[in-house]
Amino acid sequence: MAEDLLKDVASRATRYLDDVTQRRVFPSPDAVRDLQRFSVQLQDEPLDAAQVLAELDTLGSPATVAGTGGRYFGFVTGGALPAALAANMLAAAWDQNGGLEIQSPVAAHLERVCRDWLVSLLGLHAQTEVGFVTGATMANFTGLASARHAVLHAHGWNVEAQGLFGAAPITVIVGDEVHVSVLKALSMLGLGRERVVRVPVDGQGRMIAARLPAVAGPTIVCLQAGNVNTGAFDPIGEIAARLRGSGAWIHVDGAFGLWAAASPAQRSLASGLDLADSLATDAHKWLNVPYDSGLVFVRDRSALNGAMSASAAYLIEGQTRDPHLFVPEMSRRARAVEVWAALRSLGRRGLGEMIERNCAHAARFARELRNAGHQVLNDVVLNQVLVAFGSPDVTRRVIAAIQQDGTCWCGGTAWQGNIAMRISVSSWATTDADVEQSIAAILRCAERS
Ligand SMILES: *Cc1c(COP(=O)(O)O)cnc(C)c1O
Repeated sequence: MAEDLLKDVASRATRYLDDVTQRRVFPSPDAVRDLQRFSVQLQDEPLDAAQVLAELDTLGSPATVAGTGGRYFGFVTGGALPAALAANMLAAAWDQNGGLEIQSPVAAHLERVCRDWLVSLLGLHAQTEVGFVTGATMANFTGLASARHAVLHAHGWNVEAQGLFGAAPITVIVGDEVHVSVLKALSMLGLGRERVVRVPVDGQGRMIAARLPAVAGPTIVCLQAGNVNTGAFDPIGEIAARLRGSGAWIHVDGAFGLWAAASPAQRSLASGLDLADSLATDAHKWLNVPYDSGLVFVRDRSALNGAMSASAAYLIEGQTRDPHLFVPEMSRRARAVEVWAALRSLGRRGLGEMIERNCAHAARFARELRNAGHQVLNDVVLNQVLVAFGSPDVTRRVIAAIQQDGTCWCGGTAWQGNIAMRISVSSWATTDADVEQSIAAILRCAERS
């Protein structure tokens, strides 16, 4: 029974992946309308698992967004590498609780292996610890919780035990182009998303180091490795040098940009990462593992464990590396499995090549759209391209037209007073042919708009 079912799911998944390269990127209006057929009263009697799966595939698969194919350029998503997808399916069969080493020795061990590989690949400080979270939002939350722990601990205050009431105020400094997920994390931590000190940025969205205010008292500085619109990096090394000796905690949001550090050609963008106290990134974006998967890196393990522990007991637990001490969750899936599989299948060279291929494709989008007379609004330093097609209204029409056309999918964004189409190239699956086909479709839509 289970065997037939698993064979059936493997063949349905294979068919889906074959089909996804041919079909429209955004589902057809018919497929979306057919989702109504899921909306039935829950029946009284059990239903055969094979029938449940068939229903899910028949109604669900056509209504998916083809984010795993090579022509999805919306947001910054990434696809799913074959090894990571397969590992995800095996891990589902394992059904491990990744919270405690005694509940899953394999999950805990793979976290250790991934930690060593990632610290080396990204050039982080050797002591850095890692937590496997759901995404960069939770990675920002976890890094900033560690920051809150450390800067108040240095002032003799135990924030986990005593809370924020009565603590010394923490100054939080961000760039004017801070990602909303950092502000959300600050709001959840009681640090307030509106009481931040904003530092002006330049025309690419980079924090201007010379405008950093003088710091005193408990301070957290939030930097960015990879602006979500332009791909630009804050000058991390320069800002860290200005902050040296101040006791300020440096947190870096590198949801996708951090992976530049794994590419010899792009690494110079990311210099200074080893000076950060905490960093957040996604594995489900540029590492191309299935959702959901994010990583938080914290240099001082005691700050991370102190912030994430349910009690002071972590101090004596020490023998094992219990994964729950590194993340907000207790019970959770064994997320390191896919990270391990992605890294193991790519190797150092494969990872670097994937990053560089995506960047080369972004450069090609920019070159050909510019040659056709359209405006590229950013310096294309990484995988992000911002294009305007004339007036904001025309640009909006081109974006709507490309989304309707279905050849590829690009979203819209507001950038420093302009409206732009944003093209993010971050999938392992994107080929030269995908880029050619997509450029042709965009030019076609622009001509008609
Ligand atoms: C995507 C993104 C985030 C949020 O990541 P999630 O995985 O959606 O939680 C944070 N910062 C930047 C720069 C991003 O691009």
